[in-house]
Amino acid sequence: MRTGEVLILMGPPGAGKGTQAERLAASRCLTKLSTGDMLRDHVQRETELGLKARAIMDRGDLVSDDLIVAMVRSELETQEPVRVLLDGFPRTTPQAEALDTLLAEFNSEVSAAIALDVVEDVLVQRLLGRAEQEGRSDDNEETIRKRMHVYNEKTAPLLRYYQVRCCLSVIDGVGSMDEVFDRISEVLP
Ligand code: AMP
Repeated sequence: MRTGEVLILMGPPGAGKGTQAERLAASRCLTKLSTGDMLRDHVQRETELGLKARAIMDRGDLVSDDLIVAMVRSELETQEPVRVLLDGFPRTTPQAEALDTLLAEFNSEVSAAIALDVVEDVLVQRLLGRAEQEGRSDDNEETIRKRMHVYNEKTAPLLRYYQVRCCLSVIDGVGSMDEVFDRISEVLP
């Protein structure tokens, strides 16, 4: 028997994943797993993983699939049943395949994948605004462009992956926080 709930929130950098993930997780009693937040925590604590990840993150590249999957596995292992909202993971096809394998191991599966859709110019403006407010070291224009490129090349193909396998909904990510949240809630079972 399949148990739990696994939601995936996808979208390019600046699409509003973090904010929506927070609200969605709270409203559905899910644990939010943000691989970006987990990595930033490692960087701050200067763990071995953090030391490896820092330079990669600062230049807008992706941390290796093996490290990310190991990090997610150790979180999923603490969940019984698995009730998670995944924010920023998976980001590559090998990560998506590894997630399917992991979830099968925990007698679970992806319930739904939500992709936030926002045009690139709006994304860059939002991220530059966030840079001023939050001072994230990877929110400068050069790194932002690089992260967009990496998203288009490595992560965007996952939309098709989930469209074919189960459960993809593409949501217009332009609008107020409430409007976008309502659109997401409407498509979830
Ligand atoms: P985020 O906060 O989701 O925008 O992630 C910030 C940075 O962390 C990304 O630009 C990547 O360098 C790294 N990162 C986060 N999640 C992943 C992932 N699933 N795979 C590889 N790298 C990741």
